[in-house]
Amino acid sequence: MKVAILSRGPNLYSTRRLKEAGEALGHQVDVIDTLHCYMDITRSRPAIRYHGEELPYYDAVIPRIGASITFYGTAIVRQFEMMGSFCVNESVAISRSRDKLRSLQLLSRKDVGLPRTGFASKPDNVKDLIKNVGGAPVVIKLLEGTQGIGVVLAHTNKTAESIIEAFMGLKANILVQEFIEEAGGADIRCFVVGNKVVAAMKRQGAEGEFRSNLHRGGSAKLIRLTKEERATALKAAKIMGLNVCGVDILQSKNGPVVMEVNSSPGLEGIELATKKDVASMIFEFIEANAKPNRNKTKGK
Ligand code: ADP
Ligand code: GLU
Repeated sequence: MKVAILSRGPNLYSTRRLKEAGEALGHQVDVIDTLHCYMDITRSRPAIRYHGEELPYYDAVIPRIGASITFYGTAIVRQFEMMGSFCVNESVAISRSRDKLRSLQLLSRKDVGLPRTGFASKPDNVKDLIKNVGGAPVVIKLLEGTQGIGVVLAHTNKTAESIIEAFMGLKANILVQEFIEEAGGADIRCFVVGNKVVAAMKRQGAEGEFRSNLHRGGSAKLIRLTKEERATALKAAKIMGLNVCGVDILQSKNGPVVMEVNSSPGLEGIELATKKDVASMIFEFIEANAKPNRNKTKGK
């Protein structure tokens, strides 16, 4: 098959591994820079142009869309959908997952474990918002944050109020969340491909750090999931409509709670921690699901 990896970085670990794995399985794999694609939106013959030429038809597309280019990136993925390519994650599902609030709302409707979360725009609601998620300590999160930046732990109600008011003063959208203290600064990344969790790792924050992000100095190791954790990850992926994703879970005293679902999960941390060939599993998923010229992703 002809497969395109939509990525800004040909030298990133994830991009390199996907190309290598696809080629080893006998596919033609092209890395295409998302921001260099431009569109020809025309009657019955949608196309994508790239460096002055029209791109050929791809049987499948692996979108690796960074959070900072979500709007343009998902528009390009949608254009591939219009052309009939099988996109490993649909454009709408990627957009959906990029909005933490929208994601939590969708998950809450379907009885998935979540940290109790509040959202408000007016400072007059702040006291009740904090009380409603159980009172301090609470976690305050910038809606647009990634890699743990913009996630703050407030130990007292007073501090929480000041932080929330400060963010609101800056017109930033924030979530206020119950702090899952018993998670002990660790979370679990479940890597989902199709309807399976193909690899899972536990990430532990650096000493004295409640955030477990690898970018914040955390470390990762292989973990065996409980049945409930596995089921939670799969259910979250299904609700979000993502075929390939990273579901981040905290181990709370009431069972697993989903923090977020990542539509472009990195391969480096998970492959190194678990020694699993996740890249090849993504290609096996494509082989089983892409139907050349007969894909019907709707892009809506
Ligand atoms: P980002 O998307 O920026 O990584 P997250 O919401 O995943 O932000 O939060 C970063 C880290 O902070 C998580 O990986 C987790 O370790 C910790 N964390 C986030 N929310 C909570 C919470 N409600 N309770 C305990 N720890 C949390
Ligand atoms: N982009 C990385 C991922 O989705 C973030 C990893 C991290 O900071 O823990 O896997």
